[in-house]
Amino acid sequence: MKTKSLYIHIPFCRSRCPYCAFYTQRIRGSAADGCTERIVRELEAETRKYNTIYIGGGTPTCLPPEKLRGILCAAAKCKSASCEFTVEANPTDVTPVTANLFADSGVNRVSLGVQSALAAERRALGRRGSIEDIEAAVAELHGAGITNLSFDVMVGIPGQTEASLNETLQWCVAQDPAHISAYLLEIYPGTQFAKHSPALLPDEEAQAALYLQMCAFFETNGYMQYEVSNFCRLGFESRHNLTYWNAEEYMAYGPSAHGFTAGRRWHNTEDLTAWRREEDGLGGGFEEYAMLRLRLAEGLREDLCYTVFGHGIPDKMREAAHPLAELGLAIVMPGSIRLTREGFLLSNSVIGKLLS
Ligand code: SF4
Repeated sequence: MKTKSLYIHIPFCRSRCPYCAFYTQRIRGSAADGCTERIVRELEAETRKYNTIYIGGGTPTCLPPEKLRGILCAAAKCKSASCEFTVEANPTDVTPVTANLFADSGVNRVSLGVQSALAAERRALGRRGSIEDIEAAVAELHGAGITNLSFDVMVGIPGQTEASLNETLQWCVAQDPAHISAYLLEIYPGTQFAKHSPALLPDEEAQAALYLQMCAFFETNGYMQYEVSNFCRLGFESRHNLTYWNAEEYMAYGPSAHGFTAGRRWHNTEDLTAWRREEDGLGGGFEEYAMLRLRLAEGLREDLCYTVFGHGIPDKMREAAHPLAELGLAIVMPGSIRLTREGFLLSNSVIGKLLS
C-alpha cells in the first residue's frame, strides 16, 4: 500500500491545558533544540513525496521562529504537487512573520485552536488569548493568502450552556472557516481535570444535548458533518484525517507520533530526543477498517469493502446492525451501514456491538 500521508509531532506548548492528554511539554530555553534538529534530520533524509502533511502537537507555533522555519522547510521538501499541507497554530502565535513563513513554505491549511468564543470558557480550559486574538490571526492568515482554515471547537466545557454554545457557533460561522473539528470534552487519566474535577461540568445528558444542538446548527449553516466530530464546507474535508479513517498508511516523525507503514502499526516512544520506534502489530485488517470507516458519515460501504478486501459487509454485521437501526442508532442499506447522529454520540459502544 502506498504511504501518502505524513504526520510530524512537535511536543511543546507554552503551558499545559488542564484537559490535555497529548505528549507535550512546556517549552523553555533550549529544550526544543535536540528534538527539532532530529526531526529536521529525519525529514531531510526522506525521499517520498506525500499528498498530505500535517504538523501538529503540541503547538508547533510555540517554537522559536528559526526552529519552526527549519521544520517547515524540511517538510516542504516532502510535498507532492497537490499536497494538503496543514499546520496547527495557537492564534496568539500568528503574527505577520508566522503567517508569511507559512505561506512561503507552501502551507495551505491552518488549524486554529478556538475551543470557545467566551472568555470564561476559554479560561476554564486554560486557553491563552482572547477571541479578538483569534480574529486577528484569521485576518493575518487571510492576508498571507491562506484561506483554508480549520477551527477546533469544544463541546461540554465546564459551565457551557445551550446559549453559550450557540454564541461560539455563531461566532465560528461568522468567521467562515472551511472546516470545523468539534470534540466533546473527555476527562483523560493523568490530566489536571482528572485530578481535580472542574466545577459545572455538563453531565452526560447535557453533553449529548449540546452535541446534537451543534450538529443541527452546522447543518443549517452549510457545514456538512462527514465524521463524528468533523464538519466542513463542501469539498473541504481534511484529506489528512481521511487517510486515518480510511485505514490507509501514513508516515510519522517526532516523539510519541504513531505511524502505519508496510502493513504494520508502530509508534515512537515518548522521549524528547532519544525516541525510538516500537511495534504495535499488523494493521489494515477488516475489523480495523470497519471500526474507522464507521466514524465517517458515509459509513461502511459495500463497494469499498469489495475493492479493499474482496468481500462485502459480513452478514453477521448486518444482523447485528438491525437492532441498532430499530433504536435509531444506525441506518442499514443494501450498499452500506452507517451511524446516525445519536449513534455517533455512542459511537464506541455502537461500533463495538457491530463488530462483536
Ligand atoms: S495547546 Fe493543545 S497540545 Fe498544548 S497543552 Fe493545550 S490542548 Fe494540549
